[in-house]
Amino acid sequence: MKKYHIAVIPGDGIGPDIVSQAVKVLKEAGALFELEFEFHELLAGGAAIDQVGACLPAETVKTARECDSILLGAVGGPAWDRLPGDARPEQAILGLRKEFGLFANLRPALLFSQLAAACPLRADLVAGGLDLLVVRELTGGIYFGERGHKDTDMGPAAYDVEQYSEGEVRRIAEVAFQMALKRRRQVVSVDKANVLESSRLWRRVVTETAAAYPEVSLEHMYVDNAAMQLVRQPAQFDVIVTGNLFGDILSDEASMVTGSIGMLPSASLGSGSFGLYEPIHGSAPDIAGTDRANPMATILSAAMMLRYSFDQAEAAQTIEKAVAQVLDQGYRTADLYTVGTTLVGTEKAGQLIAEALQA
Ligand code: NAD
Repeated sequence: MKKYHIAVIPGDGIGPDIVSQAVKVLKEAGALFELEFEFHELLAGGAAIDQVGACLPAETVKTARECDSILLGAVGGPAWDRLPGDARPEQAILGLRKEFGLFANLRPALLFSQLAAACPLRADLVAGGLDLLVVRELTGGIYFGERGHKDTDMGPAAYDVEQYSEGEVRRIAEVAFQMALKRRRQVVSVDKANVLESSRLWRRVVTETAAAYPEVSLEHMYVDNAAMQLVRQPAQFDVIVTGNLFGDILSDEASMVTGSIGMLPSASLGSGSFGLYEPIHGSAPDIAGTDRANPMATILSAAMMLRYSFDQAEAAQTIEKAVAQVLDQGYRTADLYTVGTTLVGTEKAGQLIAEALQA
């Protein structure tokens, strides 16, 4: 029996509610596919600030390093909003990405046919379905660039520097082309090369990288156009590759097109098989502890973990099918509920998906 160690970081807000359901589903999948999982619960985010005074305790990093992957709920909330920027819970996520060299963020946006009614776009715009993958660079660009304050003629100013090296662009482009090979073989690289020098380098390196992938088509698109095309004709996209800032914004936009932020998983990968898996939404403090959170994004993140870190594609697919089956049966958490469907809470949704695995 294969054994995997999983670092489990529930975090804040709805984090503990949704992570417990993903763990339940993983245990069930483990039993079904003869995989043994050992879960190591660790502190990060606001919960860690409250208990040990740091958002990313050294102990968490040390134990996570001994594991095969990390499953994370979400961090942050109003209780810690007044802390200075570098002491906030959200720094834990940036710290984990940096610590484990997780430079590639994969965010699939899939419109489940059962949820077509939740899509805010006109039905004819998504009639053919929607299945795209945003590949976002995660450890470079403006979020990690030089920053500071200075005096100017117009008064005190603040700045953040957008910088990309050829190596950083090449490795994320490689990930995008590799992903495209397993999908519909189309990559759109998003930049702002008409204005930014860093984008001109980005575009050149992506084009050079594409030469090794003649079976994949490559198109370049300015970020403002990409934002428009995502709501005008989202089905045109297969794989979108872009930098940290543009990827942050475009992947949230893509998520909304699929109906609910509660459905979308993500994987953050480095050069090995180690990965960090988390839903793309935040800690939703407004519904924390009320059994109203949708656990599906976290459960689908666990499926991504099986696929990308453990190479267990069949087990991953079985979880994805179980989620689709529960939707087929008409069960909906509050964020997805429409008249005629059956409203269920977080716990019940997780239970139904775990049971559906057996089928
Ligand atoms: P959010 O994603 O937490 O919530 C936005 C809205 O979506 C809320 O109405 C919330 O109730 C709803 N929502 C989110 N997830 C849901 C789910 N699974 N089921 C049902 N409804 C869901 O974004 P926010 O309100 O901007 O941020 C709240 C906190 O989360 C902030 O402290 C923010 O910094 C933090 N945050 C953390 C992460 C992370 O941990 N990776 C990401 C984004 C935001």
